[in-house]
Amino acid sequence: MENRSDEDTGDATAADHTSDGDRTADRRTTEPPAADPRFSVPLRGVAVDPETRCAHWEDPVDVVALRFGCCEAFYPCDRCHDAVADHPAEPWPRDRFSEPAVLCGVCGETMTPPEYFACEDFCPDCGAAFNPGCRAHRDRYFEVGIDESNRE
Ligand SMILES: [Zn+2]
Ligand SMILES: [Zn+2]
Ligand SMILES: [Zn+2]
Repeated sequence: MENRSDEDTGDATAADHTSDGDRTADRRTTEPPAADPRFSVPLRGVAVDPETRCAHWEDPVDVVALRFGCCEAFYPCDRCHDAVADHPAEPWPRDRFSEPAVLCGVCGETMTPPEYFACEDFCPDCGAAFNPGCRAHRDRYFEVGIDESNRE
């Protein structure tokens, strides 16, 4: 049982299947009031790839975009919002949690915040893995109850 890991791509010569050239080719920066035509929802950001990775979050699992309460557009992250929008970012309001506010960049389906919170880091529609680290800054994107992060 000697499975060799495919992830050992230390040598560029052997890594034909992961081409950085292809990944950067499809990246687009979109500023308001435009929206990225590749997505079914109003979406903007910096160097966004076809699965909503961006200039700031580009791991394989960084494939969700979040909707902001201030302008009701989706962005891959808050830094994308701050880079192209002309106003401070506001999280999605709690009284609109029944509306879609999360986009899976892999399949293009949207989720409500409660659906996203319950999905355990996998898309309910296509099964794509989401970044579990996003939990740590959920309050940037959603007006959630102030629990352990209750400061000042
Ligand atoms: Zn905004
Ligand atoms: Zn970003
Ligand atoms: Zn999906």
